[in-house]
Amino acid sequence: RWCGAHANREVLLASPRSACAGVDRAVEIVELALLRFGSPVYVRKQIVHNEHIVADLTKRGAVFVDSVDEVPKGAVVVFSAHGVSPAVRAAAAERDLVTIDATCPLVAKVHSEARGHVRQGRTIAYIGHAGHEESEGTLGEAPDAMHLVETVEDVARLQVDDPHNVAFLTQTTLASDEVEEIVTALRSRYPDAKGPRGEDICYATTNRQQAVRAVAAQSDLVLVVGSRTSSNANRLVEVATRSGAPAVLVEDATELDPALLHNIFRIGLTAAASTPEPLVERVVEALRTLGQVDIDEVRVAREDIVFSLPAALR
Ligand code: SF4
Repeated sequence: RWCGAHANREVLLASPRSACAGVDRAVEIVELALLRFGSPVYVRKQIVHNEHIVADLTKRGAVFVDSVDEVPKGAVVVFSAHGVSPAVRAAAAERDLVTIDATCPLVAKVHSEARGHVRQGRTIAYIGHAGHEESEGTLGEAPDAMHLVETVEDVARLQVDDPHNVAFLTQTTLASDEVEEIVTALRSRYPDAKGPRGEDICYATTNRQQAVRAVAAQSDLVLVVGSRTSSNANRLVEVATRSGAPAVLVEDATELDPALLHNIFRIGLTAAASTPEPLVERVVEALRTLGQVDIDEVRVAREDIVFSLPAALR
């Protein structure tokens, strides 16, 4: 073994990793909309938080906008996998847009839970990250009845009219250990609080976090392939770090700095639910330019979930 970047290495490939069923479906929806309606198809926000996917769809005729106000009247607009608030739907209807909804069904489920609690007159603590599109969309279901909670301290600051009529919901891509802490704080302050069975953290997030934990425990360094804007990519870095391995987020193989690999012989490798798998393959190829690479896959779960497409595109 040498001590420089050139060395024989073992790569522990976390499994499951990379694109989830909700991301695959959202990308397919834009592709099918381009086939069905022709270019341009407008997409509100990044369809999923990955620059490579956005660049590829842009080449094929998708036009990404921040707001439906930028979409010409009557044009086709796709809502991203992260979901939208009722206000955004209303603004699209006002402009006579043809809307196609790529909201992940597991995000849509949280929206529907929010509406159910509001019908029961409950105040909702929404555990999520400020400013993330998914949080904004879900909080938009009932801006007056929902409160964003990011930390245990936020729970102490909550003010509700009826402490016996409280519910909580979560963003789908949070780290389960962090959410547990906040839920414990909520339950101790509001023992009657109604919550989802388990949490709203989705299967893809749960599996990727479990897999990265398994590889981090045996790695000198964990590489997470994903975009800096991706919530679940950032959570994978945090979960790996908490599991005892230094972890670095790389957008793609071009960000793999050989200096990072000095004295590193066992690399854990994973990718966010918004990352296409070929980007992981390219990272492995880049590692092979620095020496021999043996790959071991560490699988903690199997995934066979496929979501059906919106009726308009079937
Ligand atoms: Fe859906 Fe989970 Fe994938 Fe988000 S991470 S798109 S909630 S399956």
